[in-house]
Amino acid sequence: MIDRVKIGDIEYTVRLERDGEYDGSVTHSIAIIQIAPDMHPIVERCSLWHEIFHAIFKQTGQEDARQNEGLIEALSHSVVAIIRNNPELVEYTCGGHDVQVGNG
Ligand SMILES: [Zn+2]
Repeated sequence: MIDRVKIGDIEYTVRLERDGEYDGSVTHSIAIIQIAPDMHPIVERCSLWHEIFHAIFKQTGQEDARQNEGLIEALSHSVVAIIRNNPELVEYTCGGHDVQVGNG
């Protein structure tokens, strides 16, 4: 598991620990994402992306989307599958010769 993820201008700390009954949670005020331990590796990744989408919608003021668990599940599972199934797309998006990574 990674221990940090930058979403917008905020770097969130990622902790592998259970928050009550949930597989994952995000606390925006202190920029912490908690992901339950001992899950299937792909489920763990989907759970992290699930919380990332909650954070994106929170930061961008999309309250209806932020509370739409079905939408967030569709996005998180789809993004994980796309990334895992298309390494060339990830490389193309992140780098290549014509794009400077990081600072724009
Ligand atoms: Zn959720």
